[in-house]
Amino acid sequence: GGAAEPPPKLVLDLERLATVPAEKAGPLQRYAATIQSQRGDYNGKVLSIRQDDLRTLAVIYDQSPSVLTEQLIGWGVLDADARRAVASHDD
Ligand code: C2E
Ligand code: C2E
Ligand code: C2E
Repeated sequence: GGAAEPPPKLVLDLERLATVPAEKAGPLQRYAATIQSQRGDYNGKVLSIRQDDLRTLAVIYDQSPSVLTEQLIGWGVLDADARRAVASHDD
């Protein structure tokens, strides 16, 4: 993208997230539920999260943010556009 574009937002697809087996997605499911609870945001099909939260989740999953992002894209939980949200911070 061009330099004037804002970075894409990290938007979790909560309906897809609910279908991923808990042995894989459990930590992310709990993290997202905590954010929803803190915001009082219970009815959304999607949840916008902070860039910092992806970095925290990468520590939880013991992976780099970009590898975790690829995994979440593979689950259908993040849009492929999310790659651009982490790329600028990763190197
Ligand atoms: P906080 O971080 O002290 O933020 C207080 C309020 O500032 C939030 O209330 C929200 O109205 C606003 N705010 C802060 N950062 C942003 C932002 O990047 N975008 C938007 N749109 N608003 C922002 P809210 O939403 O009721 O959240 C209450 C508390 O819950 C937050 O206090 C924070 O401790 C936690 N929280 C909510 N959402 C997230 C999240 O996505 N990630 C993390 N790490 N914590 C969150
Ligand atoms: P957007 O950020 O592109 O979000 C589009 C729609 O996705 C939102 O429509 C909402 O239905 C859903 N959505 C995105 N993130 C969340 C989330 O964390 N929780 C929930 N429950 N739904 C989410 P909506 O609400 O009509 O908002 C339309 C547009 O208004 C948003 O487009 C954004 O540009 C702006 N907007 C709404 N709330 C905020 C906010 O807290 N902060 C900022 N900066 N913009 C907001
Ligand atoms: P957004 O609301 O459009 O905010 C975009 C970016 O502006 C945020 O990216 C953050 O860098 C900055 N920002 C917005 N409001 C605040 C604020 O009150 N304090 C600070 N320190 N920075 C702020 P970020 O952090 O990656 O968040 C991405 C999106 O996640 C936000 O888009 C919003 O949709 C959601 N979000 C993050 N934190 C909160 C929160 O505490 N409450 C709610 N309701 N939404 C949040």
